[in-house]
Amino acid sequence: MAARPPIVRLKPGRDRSLRQRHPWLFSGAIAAVEGDPPSGATVEVRAADGDLLALAAWSPASQIRARAWSFEPCTIDASFIAARIRRAIDARAATPDAPRDGARLVHGESDGLPGLVADRYADVVVVQLGSAGAEAWRDAIVEALAGATRARAIVERSDADVRALEGLAPRVGVVRGALPDPLVFREQGIEYAVDVLAGQKTGFYLDQRDSRRIVGAHAAGRRVLNAFCYTGGFTLACLAGGAAHVTSIDSSAPALALAQANLARNPALNASRAQWLEADVFAELRRLRDAAATFDLIVLDPPKFAPTAQHAERAARAYKDVNLLALKLLAPGGHLATFSCSGGIDAALFRKIVAGAALDARADAAVVGRFAASADHPVALAFPEGEYLKGLLIRKA
Ligand code: SAH
Repeated sequence: MAARPPIVRLKPGRDRSLRQRHPWLFSGAIAAVEGDPPSGATVEVRAADGDLLALAAWSPASQIRARAWSFEPCTIDASFIAARIRRAIDARAATPDAPRDGARLVHGESDGLPGLVADRYADVVVVQLGSAGAEAWRDAIVEALAGATRARAIVERSDADVRALEGLAPRVGVVRGALPDPLVFREQGIEYAVDVLAGQKTGFYLDQRDSRRIVGAHAAGRRVLNAFCYTGGFTLACLAGGAAHVTSIDSSAPALALAQANLARNPALNASRAQWLEADVFAELRRLRDAAATFDLIVLDPPKFAPTAQHAERAARAYKDVNLLALKLLAPGGHLATFSCSGGIDAALFRKIVAGAALDARADAAVVGRFAASADHPVALAFPEGEYLKGLLIRKA
């Protein structure tokens, strides 16, 4: 029998957020801690009046001092973790049109597994441990993913910046099995090679799957500009959708090399329609504007300019700048698919920023569609922070 977990007692009136099943407990809400629980240990979080609010993973280094595993009394052990992982995977299997080849299997807080991300690429699973709690259950997580997916390899990409905030060192490597080289998966009939050991995120932006499909469907006959192209997801989707020509820009040479290899892997896409530029998007869009270039469809999918709300103001300027340039480059009747994956900028603020850009560009423009992460990236209703990715499809008059 495991010992009863240590108790973390909250200050009076600081229990609201956990009662609303928001999984984060901030350090400022804590009145007292029983003993000195180690990083990742399970603690009982109790209100000032003694009510049990949650069983949570303790994270002594982080401002998010604990993350809830459960709001009901239960035992947090390897079988609890395995059941949550199985629940996440089963939910996806039961979703209509669920992607089988490239998909997120576990999406952290929104799947009741704070800090844990697992993505599947063909028969390889990539796991990312981003919290003290996930780190503490590493062996159980790997075991459960191996059992639930029968993956031929499991790779760990625990090197996201959030690890430092949790007091955890980065860890990257093949945990089980052997990694095929190259590792190739399919999305909407297109083959992509993915660098799961060194690529961004777990190697691919799986959250943009639906957006790539929708944008690709707007590409027929269009002259397309794909800014921040990474390994060519939107580029290949647009070529498959019948684009006349696609110019793609990224500042990362390895990303562009993989993008070009991905295009070569799909000979039906006729690579002569693609042009690749290794450049800073801000500088390149100014250069194109000065050259009076125009495009019929522009994709702007920049990196997170505002990881948290503290960065929102500077980020807002960057979003406005790049959207203003894009709206100037857009031909009349053209479409702009513009995204923000910044947690610190919500959908309403993003819309305002884009509206400001249109005003300054003297462009009459309307929202004709909205984008969000695909269904394998759920957003728990109690966890609005999960809604980091938003996008607008804008039509210029
Ligand atoms: N749309 C892509 C994902 C984009 S991720 C997809 O669907 O896969 C953001 C990309 O922006 C990264 O590849 C990064 O290398 C690139 N990037 C970041 N800052 C940049 C800048 N100033 N100029 C050009 N590219 C930049």
